[in-house]
Amino acid sequence: MRAWTRTVVAVDGPAGSGKSSVSRAAAKSMGFAFLDTGAAYRALAWLVLERGIDATDADAVTALLDDWDFRISTHPTDTVVRIGEHDVTAAIREPRVTAAVSSVARIPTVRRRLNEQFRDLLDAPGEPGVIAEGRDITTVVAPDASVRVLLTADPEIRAARRAGELTGVSAEEVARQVSERDRVDGQVVDFMTAAEGVTTLDSSALDFEGTVEALVDLVRAGER
Ligand code: C5P
Repeated sequence: MRAWTRTVVAVDGPAGSGKSSVSRAAAKSMGFAFLDTGAAYRALAWLVLERGIDATDADAVTALLDDWDFRISTHPTDTVVRIGEHDVTAAIREPRVTAAVSSVARIPTVRRRLNEQFRDLLDAPGEPGVIAEGRDITTVVAPDASVRVLLTADPEIRAARRAGELTGVSAEEVARQVSERDRVDGQVVDFMTAAEGVTTLDSSALDFEGTVEALVDLVRAGER
């Protein structure tokens, strides 16, 4: 167990649950830092594609972490993600990266190495608290967080939200991609059922502001 130096809020959930935008907005309104852990997995997948490495080659992918100069801002209004001199903020959202990311994320050594980086970022000095979101924050990265939340929404609603973010892809295709990514990611960590002590926040019937408010309420109630 790590004795965190500030309030740590862990938020997990499946693709399209809105955890990134909701966590970011909640962090902004509370003056907290924000950590998008999926961005790190995406940045590594981008580097794998850039170098032409086989995403399933565990040794080759892990070796990239030896000298990877990954930088992510934890300020909730600053979304910049960099690898070395490359600003990869937009590139890591491209469909080719999304298609490759699950292969990279299922490599145990990659997860262990990234988790250490995440824990250091959670404990960095600065804001009085931090909201980190991903798939295994409540269970692996920070099971001892002050507040742990599983953000869910019905599959059709998640697909519709994702479809709204993408252009040129049909709603059916988005639904297929979202459920396939959840299926593959779900083989590595369970983010569909809340672990013991984790509060489920179902956003199916809530709008964006309502979901942010509900998360802020949970943080205020659980802060210690
Ligand atoms: O949250 P986002 O969709 O950007 O995450 C991209 C991918 O990163 C996920 O599909 C998953 O493979 C991986 N991921 C993970 N563990 C986390 C965060 C993301 O495996 N904590």
